[in-house]
Amino acid sequence: MALKIDAEKCIGCGACVSFCSDCFEMNDGGKAEVIAQKCDSCDLNDSPGICPVQAITV
Ligand code: SF4
Repeated sequence: MALKIDAEKCIGCGACVSFCSDCFEMNDGGKAEVIAQKCDSCDLNDSPGICPVQAITV
């Protein structure tokens, strides 16, 4: 399993950071970045569904 964000698609809405701030954070360019491939706070398999522009893949 490899969690990825397509920076070309990301519109910086922050929904993924709201979903799990242990796995996602916003960078200085206003795009989301993956900071953990797994954690105890969320089910990452649900994360692609929360992105409005389908930028997240697992
Ligand atoms: S939910 Fe999608 S569009 Fe919004 S910040 Fe995260 S990766 Fe970017």
